[in-house]
Amino acid sequence: MAKTKSKIHSNKLQQKLRRNVGRAIADFAMIEAGDKVMVCLSGGKDSYAMLELLLSLKRKAPVDFDLIAVNLDQKQPGFPERVLPRYLDGLGIEYHVVEQDTYSVVKRVVPEGKTMCGACSRFRRGILYSFASNHGVTKIALGHHRDDIIETLFLNMFFGSRLKAMPPKLLSDDGRNVVIRPLAYCREADIEAYAEARAYPIIPCQLCGSQDNLQRVQIKKVLATWEREQPGRLENIFRSLQSVSPSHLADTKLFDFHALSGGGDAAKIGADAWLLGGDRKVS
Ligand code: SF4
Repeated sequence: MAKTKSKIHSNKLQQKLRRNVGRAIADFAMIEAGDKVMVCLSGGKDSYAMLELLLSLKRKAPVDFDLIAVNLDQKQPGFPERVLPRYLDGLGIEYHVVEQDTYSVVKRVVPEGKTMCGACSRFRRGILYSFASNHGVTKIALGHHRDDIIETLFLNMFFGSRLKAMPPKLLSDDGRNVVIRPLAYCREADIEAYAEARAYPIIPCQLCGSQDNLQRVQIKKVLATWEREQPGRLENIFRSLQSVSPSHLADTKLFDFHALSGGGDAAKIGADAWLLGGDRKVS
């Protein structure tokens, strides 16, 4: 009985997640006919769920596309090498394990006691992007979800003075790869519950002993408190990213405030002229 109940729960979650992934793919034109999508599989709950959801959507998708799974073995001590190949063999899909010892490099370049995640992610990104370019991949799928996107928004605001999140689709910095985030509309709590129900063989990221970015941990806590106090707040925050009013922000590059005029001359006058004054009035 309990088993049936948990099966129903897992099916419902899968339907919900599938719907969210399908919507995100459609809204951002993430996958097109003929695409070769490379699913980056870290062994964490998000990437397992993403791979499974994409495989399930592929069966009924309106366009034909290929999926391959790629794992980067960064040679962290204790990395269980057989876990992912065993899991992927069971799925019967094309997969690649790229072996590169970024662990030693990161250890060498990051000072003792500092978090290694930033450098580690940059190396990982570079290697995966090169692999994609060399293997005819047209889209790189990353497992970031709605909550990652919201956290990034606040991280950038609080610590970087920028109104910038993590886009569901983007062109990589070197212009060679299109990155997609099919889980962009999925709540982390749903993915977590689904991963548990599916009993994925999770490989913990912290094998390397590094701490997660402490600022992100801090933001995560704040967001969790807000959501507890007012359920639905995170969804509202996420939806605000889809409903932006440049005229009600303060970025002069996004909106031409000089063009707004109450009948006077809206000629551009530099800040210095206003601050320091001058002997000539602009008429
Ligand atoms: S926890 Fe370790 S493996 Fe994971 S991103 Fe950070 S440095 Fe890399």
